[in-house]
Amino acid sequence: MFKIQNYINGELVAPINGKYLDNYDPSVGEVYSLIPDSDSADVDMAVKAAKEAFPEWSNLSNEQRHDYIMAIADGIESRFEEFVEAESRDNGKPIKLARKVDIPRAKSNFKFYATAVMHYSSQSHFMSEEPAINYTLRQPLGVVGCISPWNLPLYLFTWKIAPALATGNTVVAKPSEITPMTAYLLSEVCKEAGLPNGVLNIVHGNGPTTGEAIVQHDDIQAISFTGGTKTGEHIARIVAPKFKKMSLELGGKNPNIIFGDCDYDKALSTSVISSFANQGQICLCGSRVFIHESIYEKFRDDFVVKVKKLKVGDPMEGDTSLGAVVSKPHQEKILLYIELAKQEGGKVIAGGNAVNPEGRCANGYFVEPTVIEGLPFNCRTNQEEIFGPVVTLQPFSTEEEVLGYANSVKYGLAATVWTQDISRANRVAQNLHAGIVWVNCWLLRDLRTPFGGVKDSGIGREGGFEAMDFFTEPKNICVKY
Ligand code: NDP
Repeated sequence: MFKIQNYINGELVAPINGKYLDNYDPSVGEVYSLIPDSDSADVDMAVKAAKEAFPEWSNLSNEQRHDYIMAIADGIESRFEEFVEAESRDNGKPIKLARKVDIPRAKSNFKFYATAVMHYSSQSHFMSEEPAINYTLRQPLGVVGCISPWNLPLYLFTWKIAPALATGNTVVAKPSEITPMTAYLLSEVCKEAGLPNGVLNIVHGNGPTTGEAIVQHDDIQAISFTGGTKTGEHIARIVAPKFKKMSLELGGKNPNIIFGDCDYDKALSTSVISSFANQGQICLCGSRVFIHESIYEKFRDDFVVKVKKLKVGDPMEGDTSLGAVVSKPHQEKILLYIELAKQEGGKVIAGGNAVNPEGRCANGYFVEPTVIEGLPFNCRTNQEEIFGPVVTLQPFSTEEEVLGYANSVKYGLAATVWTQDISRANRVAQNLHAGIVWVNCWLLRDLRTPFGGVKDSGIGREGGFEAMDFFTEPKNICVKY
């Protein structure tokens, strides 16, 4: 069976303890490779390599770092289809999604930050009362830790690594143990690109062992984490007393608000995508759909017709809309939430069941796209993150009412608003508890914009210069003349 290796100090190496974990293909329900069950000894080795690599890497010119990082982007491009297939197999997502979104975006992340660092600048403050000038240096932090989840494996992994490297840090990174394969391919690409030893180290393993060893390590200066709110809270408890910098991108329970004056066809077709893309396993999916009472019945019926046409099945087939969810425990969790919704009085009007497609995917972990109505806004189904292909529909009558529903959850990551009334769009957007609001679109991403959430959806922002600010420490130097 193929064994994934750690990438430490420029070498692909086995875990020191020789232990491995099973890696499943969720679309067939079988183990297809093994991943290192690394522990603190491997993390120590990775941190040591990163520490040794830091002085030289941080002293390269921006242009030299740009060249290395662009070479990584080119390396992904040259093995594009291999990455696409690996991502789809490891995660269960439709191959067309990996080809259209995940892998192109991973490549763009490197390109974006390789070039961004060439334009990154700091402030200066001229003092008129005294002849003096302040200038602010932005210096890299040293060794930083990057930990990412399984839903957009390479996309989110590189979204952290690229700005960290571009600003002159060296990195110890851990992908999710559930989806390690494209991170492994990335380590091969880094070797091929001639990235200096120790600049990027990828250590595979479990969250509570490998991940926590990274979080705990005193020589790691900052933690950039994307994952669940509970894990984020746990990490914050460890990191806060150590006074490390931390960026936490956590869960969501996003509202998708549809007013009666929306562009109906656009709102309808995009809502199907924003509900079920990647099997609903995108932190930005709109899982609570609020529909104005004037169009509620029509929208609901048209939505259900479209949802029932979505094909659930083999991720490798080009016409598949929903592939497998990421694991058996996750499938079970989603199905439990559907049961809970029924107990809470919800009516399942589409889907609601596990699926066993015919053929090679018969034992995979599939769930039908599920639509539920009739639930109050404050029940558990409407308050807790399910992170699967399950949405609820709720009618509303006024702006005030829907804002109350939308903002009632502990999360505040993203929101979508559909209306042709520009004043209403801006008013509602400004009053939503969210770090990101899309008006008349969804997941339209400009990598320069701040990305992140409020409330229990996290602290800090990624994206654009925000990520570069996070991975650097400002130092003000005041010169009197
Ligand atoms: P988890 O929090 O379970 O895991 C995220 C990462 O943290 C994984 O690599 C995991 O490793 C690791 N980890 C787990 N425990 C620890 C620990 N004690 N110390 C250090 N690292 C640890 O999240 P999921 O992977 O289940 O991802 C789904 C969640 O991510 C959802 O809540 C989703 O909303 C959120 N998310 C947020 C995004 C955002 O931008 N705000 C974007 C995408 C997802 P392992 O996998 O080995 O357990």
